[in-house]
Amino acid sequence: MPRKLGQHFLVSQPILEKIAEAACGAHAERVIEIGPGRGALTRHLLKRCDELHAIELDEKLASALRSELIDKPGFALTQGDVLRTDLAQWGPAAIVGNLPYYITSPILELFLNLDARFPAAVFLVQREVADRLLAKPHTRDYGFLTVKTQLLCDVKIVVKVPPGAFAPPPKVESAAVRLDRKAGAAVDSELVMFVGRCFAQKRKTLRNNLKSFFRAEALEAMPEAGLRAEQIPVEGFLPLLRRLQGGS
Ligand code: SAM
Repeated sequence: MPRKLGQHFLVSQPILEKIAEAACGAHAERVIEIGPGRGALTRHLLKRCDELHAIELDEKLASALRSELIDKPGFALTQGDVLRTDLAQWGPAAIVGNLPYYITSPILELFLNLDARFPAAVFLVQREVADRLLAKPHTRDYGFLTVKTQLLCDVKIVVKVPPGAFAPPPKVESAAVRLDRKAGAAVDSELVMFVGRCFAQKRKTLRNNLKSFFRAEALEAMPEAGLRAEQIPVEGFLPLLRRLQGGS
């Protein structure tokens, strides 16, 4: 079994049901599933939606699942790499997946870069990633991923998942999280780049992390110059950037 594809299959039926419910509610029109594998989550989702588009990279799993679910109305499977798939073609839709952990970050990125036609995603991720997505300022887990995500989404835990809920069990704890896109939120790449620079070296002050990008006088005029990025709340980065650029 090609474990390098992150193939840990969820076998706990109550957890599968919770994830399907978090993604679809009582009923959803259209759902996109990333990495259906042997279809454990797929079957729970199919009971709750009209249309399901699944993307699976592993050719053998994809063809087995396609033949197994061929009679299910509304089910469509694309064999391929989710990172090379245009998910926008299936919008509006909810997005869900027990993610292959080796590409968690690019999949999160993919979702964040979509638009309001994709209002929510439910992802099963490593517990450590869930902690970073949910983190509050002044904590060890609060970082670039936290701010980039929380600028666009509200994040909450759906269910914590122990290794024993999978076959084979992964070495780490996991958690399903739900990301709800904030109304009117859109990716601001200039702001995201700025946040990345603020967190470039987490232990350094903003003054030190930003000194190559802004004039020394602008930085010194900023009361936050001696703080670290982890002390700035999510909504504090945009006003900081505007001040440094000489705006308000
Ligand atoms: N959904 C199933 C479950 O819950 O039992 C399987 C989840 S398993 C953690 C991740 C699945 O993603 C595997 O089936 C793997 O083959 C698939 N996968 C890995 N990389 C992928 C990629 N780049 N694009 C699409 N699917 C991928």
